[in-house]
Amino acid sequence: NTNPSSVLAEFLTAGLSANCMSWATAPAGTELEQVTLEWLRRLLGFPDGFHGVIQDTASSATLVATIAGRDAAWERAGRDAALTFYASAEAHSSVGKAARLAGFRPERVRLIPADEHYALRVDLLAESLHADRAAGLVPAVVVATVGTTSSTGIDAVRPIGELCRQVGAFLHVDAAWAGSAAICPEFRGMLDGLELADSVVVNPHKWLGVQFDCSAHYVRDPAALQRSFAMSPEYLKSAHDAEVVNYRDWGIPLGRRFRALKLWMVLRTEGAEALRAMIREHIRLGELFASWIDAEPGWDRLAPAPLALVCFRHRPAGMEDGPALDAHNRALLERVNATGQVHMVHTTLRGRFTLRLAIGQRTTTERHVVKVWKILRRAAASARE
Ligand code: PLP
Repeated sequence: NTNPSSVLAEFLTAGLSANCMSWATAPAGTELEQVTLEWLRRLLGFPDGFHGVIQDTASSATLVATIAGRDAAWERAGRDAALTFYASAEAHSSVGKAARLAGFRPERVRLIPADEHYALRVDLLAESLHADRAAGLVPAVVVATVGTTSSTGIDAVRPIGELCRQVGAFLHVDAAWAGSAAICPEFRGMLDGLELADSVVVNPHKWLGVQFDCSAHYVRDPAALQRSFAMSPEYLKSAHDAEVVNYRDWGIPLGRRFRALKLWMVLRTEGAEALRAMIREHIRLGELFASWIDAEPGWDRLAPAPLALVCFRHRPAGMEDGPALDAHNRALLERVNATGQVHMVHTTLRGRFTLRLAIGQRTTTERHVVKVWKILRRAAASARE
């Protein structure tokens, strides 16, 4: 799903070989990162006063945010405090990994059940936060997901943010995939309340055509990252440190690639309107495919499909939930992928084997989606023979 301009930028990046660890080692690289992330922030409609940094992946951004939240809780409650971590049971694996790597004990990681739309149940989060506080534990970090990987579950950022403010927890929002849709004002509602968050990540490498890797990580208070990540040995000091941004202090690695160039290149060559048109077309195609599933007997839609990811299964007459229906869909997926014409990935939703059509490739058109539907129907018909 990479924009050709971004490939060219990677070629230039390799040639320039800039190391963007410090302003002094790459002034233009550092300042281009600041400028492009500010453009992107405005394009996404993210709150004023959020500051951006490019991390390699959303996994790293979530880990960095989790460590910053953990350290802030330690600062408040002391190093012996028993810290707790919260996320939806539908959160991406990188969220659980971040909790583990940041040293949260497994018995203090709360995976809160999701509702019928696969969004974190805020009532259960509130119960869990209050029960933990009553038990003398310290709620440190909450991760809300806007657009879960399995099924586009959208956690309600505003009430989650209000709870975090009440209990003093750090809120990170994982909008790695779906967040790009916020460049279209009509999809920004899913991030309502973002101004209450401490940190949010969006992956231009997922849905804006930027060559992997490029994760835009925004934080309300960069000093919160710096308290965890800044190190200033003599050999890294420069005369300008008091006036400039040194991105080495905003994350884990010291050396950093010049990733801003490919983001700049895509924003400049495409422009906001072309990027919006691409996202709107993907979402229209997703709605179209979902409407075919809804209209055709023998096919079930298994989750809302607000953003170009459609979760569904085939259900032959008389077959109910259970291992036989799961095996039928697993075999169907294998047959469909074996055509070499399409590649789909499954998930399980409430224990049901679920097929997923994800539209996000920049050159995908209606013709491709029509073809997928034909392949699926043919594969389902041949299974019945
Ligand atoms: N969060 C969500 C919601 C995702 O969908 C993904 C990847 O699929 C990730 C995080 C991890 O992204 P990355 O590969 O940039 O670490």
